[in-house]
Amino acid sequence: MNEFDLIQSYFNWEITDPSIELGVGDDAALFTLNPGHQLVTSTDTLVEGIHFFKDASPRDIAYKSLAVNLSDIAAMGATAKCYTLSLTIPELDKGWLKDFSSSLKESSKLFNVHLIGGDTTKGPLNISITMMGSIEINNPIKRSGAKDGDDIYVSGELGSAALCLKKIKKGEIPLESDLNALNRPIPHLELGSALKNLASSCIDVSDGLEQDLSHILKSSGVGAIIDTQELPLSDSVMHYVKDTNDWSLPLCGGDDYELCFTAGKSKRDKISAISESLGSRVTRIGEINSQKKLEVVGYTGPRTSYQHF
Ligand SMILES: [Mg+2]
Repeated sequence: MNEFDLIQSYFNWEITDPSIELGVGDDAALFTLNPGHQLVTSTDTLVEGIHFFKDASPRDIAYKSLAVNLSDIAAMGATAKCYTLSLTIPELDKGWLKDFSSSLKESSKLFNVHLIGGDTTKGPLNISITMMGSIEINNPIKRSGAKDGDDIYVSGELGSAALCLKKIKKGEIPLESDLNALNRPIPHLELGSALKNLASSCIDVSDGLEQDLSHILKSSGVGAIIDTQELPLSDSVMHYVKDTNDWSLPLCGGDDYELCFTAGKSKRDKISAISESLGSRVTRIGEINSQKKLEVVGYTGPRTSYQHF
């Protein structure tokens, strides 16, 4: 099987979006954005041994590769549209490819995005996706808009994926819910979109709340105070923290793919209405100030967020 047969067999699906004129199969793809919209694009790579275990299920890898990219689009308040896939595989394993591509196809349908092109190469397992989406011109939620006095919020719960990873590494069996948090993070596309005209800044929590919130603070030229007692935790993470006092897990653990955002105090009612209507947990965890540093109330121990290098 050559590269063209491989793409034809596993990665050429019907495109149902009429604004995508050309998808997989030409030199490049062609699609049109609605008038008055900007292209929003983001890339994320998952590498075997770094982002997932060597024996990870191809179905989970496909889902997560898509979800982490969609999470970045969600953090901008944008709508995801289509993506390219660069797939590097060590060997032509038809069973693996079948599982990977069927999961990618199902996940694409779930999130209403279309694969429009890419590349396949031989080498250590590596999945790189470039996601494209759109947003009304001048309407994205950037990291740079947080203001003194804004509330700081986070969606969902923190630390579950990190706790799962910790348990696996120790040879313990993680809870199903923590395993889902690690392997099947849910990108908050609807929440991101609903926050478009409300949030002053937003980021998705991929490397740990502390580090990702710090990106907002730096870009916005502000500081913040957050309270560990306010952090939204699952029962298992809450028990872990009670036993160990290790707040660095929910603060710095990473792989949460929750949205951390800021908004003026006058937006509180609107934000709780959105949270209720979407059925998405949103928790106020602190406040932006002018101190130019991040103060964490309730924990003084070591904190180390995920480092890429
Ligand atoms: Mg991000």
